[in-house]
Amino acid sequence: MYSFPRIVRIDLSSEKVTQEQVPPGLLRDYIGGRGLGTWAYIDEAGYGQDPFAPTNPMVFATGPLTGTTYPTAARSVLVTRSPLTGTISSSNIGGRLGTILRKAGADVLIVTGKANNLSLLKFDGENIEISSAKTLEGLDTHEVDNKLKQNHPKAAILSIGPAGEKLIPYASITHDLEHDFGRGGLGAVMGSKNLKAIIIEGSLKIPLFDEEAQRKHVKKMVQQLKKSELYRLYNSYGTKFYTSIYNSLGGMTVNQYEKNKDERIERLAEVEIKKFETAHKSCSKCPVACRHTYEVNGEKIYTPEFETIGSLGPNLGLFDPSIVLPLGEKLTKMGVDTITAGHTVATFIKLVKAGKIKEPENRKWDFGSKDILELFDAMIATDSEVGRLLSKGSAKMAQELGAPELSPQVKGMEFAVYEPRKFMGQALGYGISNRGACHLHGGATIAVEALGAPLKVDKLTWRGKGKLVANSLKIVTLIDSLVTCVHAFYLYVNLNVMAKATPSAISSRFTSWVPSIALKFLNYSTMAVALENVTGEKFSTKTLDQAAQRIITLERLYNAKVGFSKEDDYLPRPFYERKTPESDPIDRHQYTRELKNYYKAMGWDEDGLPTAKTIEKLGLGEVASKPVHSP
Ligand code: SF4
Repeated sequence: MYSFPRIVRIDLSSEKVTQEQVPPGLLRDYIGGRGLGTWAYIDEAGYGQDPFAPTNPMVFATGPLTGTTYPTAARSVLVTRSPLTGTISSSNIGGRLGTILRKAGADVLIVTGKANNLSLLKFDGENIEISSAKTLEGLDTHEVDNKLKQNHPKAAILSIGPAGEKLIPYASITHDLEHDFGRGGLGAVMGSKNLKAIIIEGSLKIPLFDEEAQRKHVKKMVQQLKKSELYRLYNSYGTKFYTSIYNSLGGMTVNQYEKNKDERIERLAEVEIKKFETAHKSCSKCPVACRHTYEVNGEKIYTPEFETIGSLGPNLGLFDPSIVLPLGEKLTKMGVDTITAGHTVATFIKLVKAGKIKEPENRKWDFGSKDILELFDAMIATDSEVGRLLSKGSAKMAQELGAPELSPQVKGMEFAVYEPRKFMGQALGYGISNRGACHLHGGATIAVEALGAPLKVDKLTWRGKGKLVANSLKIVTLIDSLVTCVHAFYLYVNLNVMAKATPSAISSRFTSWVPSIALKFLNYSTMAVALENVTGEKFSTKTLDQAAQRIITLERLYNAKVGFSKEDDYLPRPFYERKTPESDPIDRHQYTRELKNYYKAMGWDEDGLPTAKTIEKLGLGEVASKPVHSP
């Protein structure tokens, strides 16, 4: 029999574990993952918990498809309040964690409280064990994983590095050496609970309503997926194939958005990185298999994403793969988000140039200089004035030194490497993302604007971008709630009958005139069919669309209740005023118009606040009335 979701609660302070089955209506309303996790977080903690308070829960949430053979469905999500941004924050991770959580019977795992000393938490589906992690203190994430795997070879292990122990607000959490809850400082929340590592073991069978129907459905999806040209690219290079595309489009960050292309970037292009490849892997049961292991100067490097290479490479004026790849690996081991770390050092360089930080005489803290590598050590050591500044992240560091415009951030989180002045949907996406500037939580419109998936739209036009971002964000939110992988989504989603019947020359005319049509051409009934096969409940694209709107609106409500407003939906001033050799400034007037169109598409008012009618329609009244804690 199918049943989802079961919530397991672990209180580190009382060392108690409790379990409950939540009402089935939640499955329809919030699906799982990011949706169910956000509901469970607010239900548990209300609004405005201090991110480092023991009462700030960490909510690990799987989805109804997790651990089944649905392509890319081994993933899970962590929801909590971010110490970097103060927003509600969620992060989607690959590997085996999601599958093993479900095998342990924990569709949702809520961890609250705080252990007395640095500790290790083990959960096997019924019991918990909290033991001292004294011998792991100060170790990096790979050292912890390797040690714990000796006695728990089949377990899913999560660990923090020295950065998480020191509560650096952009600390990450690593799983299986190469998967991370990367953005938003979720590793610092784990550190604040005195948790060095979590071990999850489980052997339950994952429930499935109609195995035969799902087997046939998945077989068809995998056949279709393997025909796609994008599949070949992801399979061969992972996200690194973006490097050549964005460089040729003039859409990269070079020297933190001073330029957008550079011929030296070709040294970091996918075919060059491929020369270091030693192994080809996959997250659990994923047919896309976009993970690769490399070896650089005798060191093993696990799957750096395009954003890591971009942020630590061209963004800092560094183009040598033998420097950039090991740097990414080192930061993952230390347990920090590579995107925020790269931008923090880049902003530090700009603060030096602006005369806000004094450079020592024997150092050259400039783009392209190897001397800047020492700044990454300083940010984790935190025992110097330079380290203290760097450990804040770029936004708070620049704010403290009186130059907030030097940090490329929204709501306190730095942009990924994509140049917003080159892609108008991406510009708006950075602005409206509920967890701070993020290419994914902003709707991943870059897929449509740069890769032409599913259909190409004009990247520079503003017309229709508010609606495009709304539609695209709904899809990403569903992916995060099922929980599957955004990388592979456009590989198996069908174009609908209308799109198939329209010659591409005509459909691309439509989509360049009204970009939001590109996503109207999508038929994501494949998600609805899979959900029905797995759960036995009826789903339609309409119910899925409404679930996505509900989840995004609930996140927005959270942020509004803790003090964020429409002013926090704008990019830093220089992006509206300065050009680069490849990009013009963003037109603030058009940005504002499409921002309002985005609000409208979501059922929010002109100030970006969900209207009473929308709250009622989405059934958010009860969760909206949870207590608001004072700062
Ligand atoms: S597409 Fe890549 S990252 Fe996504 S689930 Fe598959 S192997 Fe993992």
